[in-house]
Amino acid sequence: MVVFEKDIKTLFTCKLKFKKDLEKNEFLDYDNGFLVGITEVFGVKLVARCEKYLRHLDGYELIIEKRGKKLTEYHYVESAFYGYVLTEAGYKINKITYVSPYYRTEINWQQYVTKMISELQSTLFAKGLEPKKNYMCRLCEYSFDCFEKLSETFSISVLHGVNEPTKKKMVEHGIKDIQDILVKKSEVIKLLGEVKGNRIISLARAIELKQPVLITKLDRKLKDGLILDIESLPEEDFDYLFGILDSNAYIPFFAESLENEKEIFQSVVKHIKNSNKVIYHFHNYEIQRFRHLNKKYSLGLKEEFYKLFVDVYKLVLNHLALPVPSYSLKTIAKFFGYNWRTDINGQSVMQVFKKYYETRAEEIKKLILIYNEDDVRATKLVLEKLVQLSETESA
Ligand code: SF4
Repeated sequence: MVVFEKDIKTLFTCKLKFKKDLEKNEFLDYDNGFLVGITEVFGVKLVARCEKYLRHLDGYELIIEKRGKKLTEYHYVESAFYGYVLTEAGYKINKITYVSPYYRTEINWQQYVTKMISELQSTLFAKGLEPKKNYMCRLCEYSFDCFEKLSETFSISVLHGVNEPTKKKMVEHGIKDIQDILVKKSEVIKLLGEVKGNRIISLARAIELKQPVLITKLDRKLKDGLILDIESLPEEDFDYLFGILDSNAYIPFFAESLENEKEIFQSVVKHIKNSNKVIYHFHNYEIQRFRHLNKKYSLGLKEEFYKLFVDVYKLVLNHLALPVPSYSLKTIAKFFGYNWRTDINGQSVMQVFKKYYETRAEEIKKLILIYNEDDVRATKLVLEKLVQLSETESA
């Protein structure tokens, strides 16, 4: 079993995921300019890999880059992990500095070593860890397993999109789990109203049956359309890829640098206008970016243009109850059988693009395009399933 420095964040967010990851972590020999240290505690290999560091006459200074606004508890323990492992491996670590666009802080890592070791020990030997919803679940590869486990308890915590006050209200009225919802349907509707109540009952049925349940049929036939997905580098305010699926053909509009973002965006707008089709996208990111770019480059797109945008996420949320851990595109499309061809996700694609920007390696660009193409094809699949269920199921 191997623990990497990246696993410390998980240790503080979900101990269950931390332990599952350990089984899969593989140690590969690093020879890419990283400062790498290896040591062992409790029979587990600890590996710290530091990409940015300065070698001074009296030792090393590690520079750990982050993106967040402030330091949290895990950063301190992570710094102790770097310091401890690299010191044990024979490096003299004098200074560890955490840097983000919002702060630059030196951490006195030695004072967190005891905490780091005791957190590791208690988690490594912990038994019977149970899934507990947290912000990592959305992108977690174990989310389906955890969801299934939670669903078996019939806990109302698995109901997607039901906020805490609503759950509290149900519990106060004796509707404590999924089975209660299914038995006391009229009470649920009386308590929460027709629309919300029906949605919650459909969600409960979907979980009970382990299959999609139609909440309401689509009220109109969906028009033929383009499918759009944008990839961006938020810190540079740079939308570098507009992937379009047009009649099943994938067309990437790729801006090689910020300088040609405007030209690429104009080509995308031209393609949309010429196609005379609506634009399907998942969630509101795409329309937000179009509005932003229109303003940024003073292109004069009218309100009429934005009426072409159709949010597939909203359609699914309003019409389908699904037995899934989240309503993210990845989760829903995976549920319907879509297989992504890369390991990239919404977070890591930014790092992959940065790597492309530095190296201009064609194989990295190819990976980004495959990832983006998968996103638009997955959106298409979700849309098709929605139409199919709406046509065949009775609400
Ligand atoms: S899905 Fe959530 S609870 Fe389950 S392992 Fe992943 S992060 Fe933990």
